[in-house]
Amino acid sequence: MIFTKSARLQQLPPYLFLELDRMKAEVRKKGVDIIDLGIGDPDLPTPKFIVERMLDSVQKAQYHRYPSSRGMLSFRKAAAEWYKKRFNLSFDPASEVVVLIGSKEGIAHFPFAFVDPGDVVLVTTPGYPVYNIGTLFSGGKTYYLPLIAENDFLPDLDSIPDDIRKRAKILWINYPNNPTAAVAPPEFFARVVHFAKENNIIVCHDNAYSEMTYDGYIAPSFLETAGAKEVGLEFHSLSKTYNMTGWRIGFAVGNPELIGPLAQVKSNMDSGQFEAVQEAGIAALESDQSCIRKMQEIYSERRDILVSGLQDLGLDTPVPKATFYIWTPVPKGYTSKDFSSLLLEQAGVVCTPGNGFGQSGEGYVRMALTVSKERLAEAVERFRQIL
Ligand SMILES: *Cc1c(COP(=O)(O)O)cnc(C)c1O
Repeated sequence: MIFTKSARLQQLPPYLFLELDRMKAEVRKKGVDIIDLGIGDPDLPTPKFIVERMLDSVQKAQYHRYPSSRGMLSFRKAAAEWYKKRFNLSFDPASEVVVLIGSKEGIAHFPFAFVDPGDVVLVTTPGYPVYNIGTLFSGGKTYYLPLIAENDFLPDLDSIPDDIRKRAKILWINYPNNPTAAVAPPEFFARVVHFAKENNIIVCHDNAYSEMTYDGYIAPSFLETAGAKEVGLEFHSLSKTYNMTGWRIGFAVGNPELIGPLAQVKSNMDSGQFEAVQEAGIAALESDQSCIRKMQEIYSERRDILVSGLQDLGLDTPVPKATFYIWTPVPKGYTSKDFSSLLLEQAGVVCTPGNGFGQSGEGYVRMALTVSKERLAEAVERFRQIL
């Protein structure tokens, strides 16, 4: 037998971290105590009250049957209530909210609802790879919008040529941003709404990091922007907010004419998330949110240790207002890959070369604040010895 992978899979970009994974395994084999700042996955456990709701729920026979692909109405109500409390925005739980098996699932599936072969999808780069992958799987073509420091890591919408605007169906944006840790001012979102209306383009805002903010900064919802609900929807995740990456629970809210077709795709692809997990998600959304403040304190302490350490060593590292990423330019004379290889081989610290998130990420590395303060201080000390 010869198994030929579909053109769909064959066209996927090469996995850029292969080389890094190999080097990591080699360094580990030598017995080096590796500090891994490579992965954007919270190291802290899910808050206990959420786990306890799961323990209760898993015993309930009513949750053992197929869920609905749109999600439990009680979850959709809790998500709508959370948006009301957090952003003062109202959504109809019946038609304007859909539960997702992690927001990645919704992000990957959304283009199936609106993109035909030949359509263009506008994707910011460097960025979360799934915007491009979902586009490719649905037969669309990705047009990349570079995020560069000179533009505060916001895309230059004016630079998009007319023929691309005409063929574009979707614009993906993500603020607070992974991997650049940039945040968006309200004027930018207003500009996006104007652009979307002018060109008849759907706006998908990925708000996975809205709660991971520091120094009093409060991230907005894109849907707070005047006219935003006419053009778009917002993806939200419980993964980073409540340390629930393993649970696979998220949701999307927004224009019912966008939420409906996404739910229609899902009803043909999956049967929704286990209702006990949704029940645990309800516990998270309905809680007093004090666990979020604790998380913010922990990450901001870690951020200060790593950023001031890097700055002391002469790196031009900005202090991020949000996310658990440090996006730092590499020292002169290095590429992203050279610098991350040096840190791994000489210091035993793993970070991610910026070009792994797209060519525009060249010249940067991303470090995730997903290890303890002590380990970050240790990483800084090791950097000091080699830089
Ligand atoms: C982590 C992350 C997500 C999503 O996560 P799920 O666990 O699938 O909800 C979405 N977008 C970005 C930019 C992320 O970094």
